[in-house]
Amino acid sequence: MLLLCFCSETWGRGPKDLEQNPAVQRFRTYLRIPTVHPESDYAPAIEFLQGQAKEIGLPTKIFEFVPKKPILLMTWKGSSKEKLQSVILNSHMDVVTVEEDKWKYPPFEAYMDEDGDIYARGSQDMKVVGMMYLEAIRILKAKGWAPVRDIHVLWVPDEELAGLDGWGKFYLSKEFDELNAGVVLDEGHISYNNSYIVNNEEKAVWWLIIQATGETGHGSLYFDNSASENMFKSFASINAFRDSQMSLVRSGEKPLEEVVVINSVFLKSGSPTPDGFTMNIQPSFVEAGFDLRIPPVKEMGHFMNKIIEEEWAPKGRNMSCYFKVKTEDETGEIPSTTADDTNPWWSLMEKAVSKFNATVSAERANGASDSRYARMRGVSAFGLTAIQNVPFLIHSHNERMNGYEFLRGISVTTEVVNLYGSFSGYTKSNKAVL
Ligand SMILES: [Zn+2]
Repeated sequence: MLLLCFCSETWGRGPKDLEQNPAVQRFRTYLRIPTVHPESDYAPAIEFLQGQAKEIGLPTKIFEFVPKKPILLMTWKGSSKEKLQSVILNSHMDVVTVEEDKWKYPPFEAYMDEDGDIYARGSQDMKVVGMMYLEAIRILKAKGWAPVRDIHVLWVPDEELAGLDGWGKFYLSKEFDELNAGVVLDEGHISYNNSYIVNNEEKAVWWLIIQATGETGHGSLYFDNSASENMFKSFASINAFRDSQMSLVRSGEKPLEEVVVINSVFLKSGSPTPDGFTMNIQPSFVEAGFDLRIPPVKEMGHFMNKIIEEEWAPKGRNMSCYFKVKTEDETGEIPSTTADDTNPWWSLMEKAVSKFNATVSAERANGASDSRYARMRGVSAFGLTAIQNVPFLIHSHNERMNGYEFLRGISVTTEVVNLYGSFSGYTKSNKAVL
C-alpha cells in the first residue's frame, strides 16, 4: 500500500479538478477491482456496487444461475400504475486479460496522467458505461426527478466468455420476464465528430458442431458411407460456400460485415495410440467445429438453417449437428433492433443527444455483445458507449479513458436516462398494455 502511494507521487497526478471529482474517483475505484479473466472474481465488484446502490438509494437483488457468476440488479421503481415496460441499463463487470509488461502503467491501478487519461483495463470496455449509468442516476435523484417506468441497472458476469453463464442463462429466466423489459442499453463503440455510434444489430454467432458416424473398417478397404467420407462431403460443400463469401469480400463487392463468415475451428477423429493414431482403421466417428458469423438480414437465419440441414449435416448421410452458441429469435431469424422513428426508443435517443448538438448513427456491431440476448426475446437493444474522441483501445494494451470525456459522457447518459424514464407512451412491443 505504501509502495503504491509512493509510486503515484513519483509519477505525478491528473488535473486537480479531475482528482477532486467524486464521480471520477468512484470510476477509478471500480477500475481497480480486477474482474479479469480467466477466473474473474466478482465478489469484490458486487460488494463495491452494492455499496454504490446503498448510497444512491436503489434496492438490489442478486441472481446466481451459475455458482460464482452473480448478476446484480438495482431497481428504481417507476411512478406509473400502468404496466409500462422497463428500461434496463446493462453492463458487464468482467474484463479481458492483460499482458501487464506491455502497459505504461499497471492495468488495475487506474493511474491518471496530466491530460486526465485514466489507464485501466475496462476503462472503455465497459466499466465506463456502467459507471455513467450510476452517475446519471445520482444526478437525476439529486434533482428530485423520478421515472414513470422502472429503471433497472443490471451488472452481469462473463460477457467476454460469450455471456454463457450470465445473460445466456438470464434471458430465458422468469427473473428476466418479471422485469417486463421494453429496452436494453448496452455497450457500443467509441464515437468521433459528435455523431454517436449506436449499435442496433450485430452479426449472429453460431458455433456449429457437426458429427458423422459410420461403419468402422480396415484401412485397405473401400465401402460406402464411412464417417470420414461423409464429413469430407460436408467440408467440400462448406468450402464452396466459404469461397463464394470470401470472393465477395476479395472483389470489394461486399464488406466483411455483410457476408457470412465460416471458419473451421477443430476436427476430431481417429483412434489414438500412445504416440499418434492407428493408421489402418477407418474411424467410425468424426466431429468438426465451425465458427459462423451471420449478418442479420431478413431470411438469412432460415437460409443458413436450411443449408446446414440439407447439405452440411444431412441425416441421410448419418450426420447430426448441434450449436454451442446460436443467436436467433423464436422464428428462426437473426434479430436486430429497428433504428428509425417507428421505434420510440430510437427517437428518444436522437432527441437526447440533440441537446448536445450531436447526432446518432445506427451501425451493425462487428463483434457480439449481450444485447443479442435481449433482441432474441424481441426486446429493443441499443449499444451506446456515450464517449467521444478517445483512441479506440478496447481489448488493447494501455486501454484508457479520458476523465473529461467521461464527465461529458455522464451528461449525455443522464439525458438518455431522463428521456427514457420519463417516456409514458406505449410501444409496439408493449404486450402487457396493448
Ligand atoms: Zn464489452
